[in-house]
Amino acid sequence: MDLALSADQRAVRSAVRQWVDDVVVPHALRNDREERFPQEALEGLRETGFVGMSIPEEYGGGGADPLTYCLFMEELSRGDANVRSIMSVHLGLVAGSVQRWGTDEQKQQWLPRMATGEVLGCFGLTEPDHGSNPADLRATAERRPGGGWRVSGRKVFITNGSIAQVALVMARTGGPGGKGVSAFLVPTGVPGFVANPLHGKLGLRSCDTAELVLDGVEVGPEALLGDEGDGLKVALSALDDGRMSIAASCTGIGQAALDTMVAYAGSREQFGKPIAGHQLVQEMLADSAVDVDASRLLTWAVADLKSRGETYSLAASKAKLFATEASIRVADKCIQVHGGYGYVDEYPAAKYLRDARVTTLYEGTTQVQKLLIGRALTGVNAF
Ligand SMILES: Cc1cc2nc3c(=O)[nH]c(=O)nc-3n(C[C@H](O)[C@H](O)[C@H](O)COP(=O)(O)OP(=O)(O)OC[C@H]3O[C@@H](n4cnc5c(N)ncnc54)[C@H](O)[C@@H]3O)c2cc1C
Repeated sequence: MDLALSADQRAVRSAVRQWVDDVVVPHALRNDREERFPQEALEGLRETGFVGMSIPEEYGGGGADPLTYCLFMEELSRGDANVRSIMSVHLGLVAGSVQRWGTDEQKQQWLPRMATGEVLGCFGLTEPDHGSNPADLRATAERRPGGGWRVSGRKVFITNGSIAQVALVMARTGGPGGKGVSAFLVPTGVPGFVANPLHGKLGLRSCDTAELVLDGVEVGPEALLGDEGDGLKVALSALDDGRMSIAASCTGIGQAALDTMVAYAGSREQFGKPIAGHQLVQEMLADSAVDVDASRLLTWAVADLKSRGETYSLAASKAKLFATEASIRVADKCIQVHGGYGYVDEYPAAKYLRDARVTTLYEGTTQVQKLLIGRALTGVNAF
């Protein structure tokens, strides 16, 4: 594996980095404080074409390879993890699933408009009583005369839930367990589809999270993504990409926290010298730098496997497990280095910790990743 980025990868990273510094960073703290959706970022993502970063060029997207996609996610998160969340669900979980599982007609129907950002996606897997164990989910889709489907159920904690134009919804079409689940591309504006925004989150306060209620939503036969009974496979393959993206995101949060604490340690003086000159402060900086580098390398290893067409589920679990926990450690040290100033929202340190905190929960908790890795090592399913 060559760890040197190509000229194209460096160029994309530097363009995104500049755009993030100009458009995202200046609004991030205020948006967080006011729970205000980062509209300026979404508009900029559309204008620059970044909104279609990983969608194939034949559908009007940027055709980014997996490593470029990770660089994009890292940079977005360095500026504001909210913006990364919006894009990761749109591109990784929804557009990626259409690319992987869709028919030519479904790709033509959705991808060109997803590439321009006219259509944003959300991903509806979690239910009130089924989070870590989606195989038992209860939403249903009944076949209608003529071949369409009627979808009913409740989904909770759905990122982009009230702003998306299409929801990838997993619902039961057959018997119990994962094999009875199918995936549907549901336009969100249809009768019976309601999104209730959720407020009061600890972190990711400015991106949209909603409950979805589907009450007899009628969709045509073309809504079924993959074959009947493929729904859990659709969801789990999407989550492999999602975990890679979350690991990239945590690298970005960690890098932002590290940059912030290094700068602060150089300017804040105590005992007659910059606190960067105290050995125990340097220890916090050094431990954080290693956490960030290790997170980035694990993330790039996933992207490398994906680019070479190899399986990357296990690598994605390892990268997510490590990078999420590491970002929390780094963000926590960022607060410690700032002393009392880290505890107020005038500085970004507290936001880094609050935004990092959700990453050990969604798209498979830390415990779920450990069970997946343990199962791969031992062959024993401990779920
Ligand atoms: C901000 C945010 C955004 C989200 N976005 C989305 C989205 O876009 N789409 C979507 O579908 N979902 C989304 N989620 C939901 C998220 O994926 C779930 O919260 C997550 O899967 C955990 O499910 P749960 O909350 O029901 O927790 P539970 O599954 O009830 O878990 C509770 C605790 O029990 C532990 N646990 C559970 N089972 C086991 C086991 N077998 N062994 C050991 N420990 C176990 C868990 O690790 C956890 O610590 C989002 C959540 C949040 C907070």
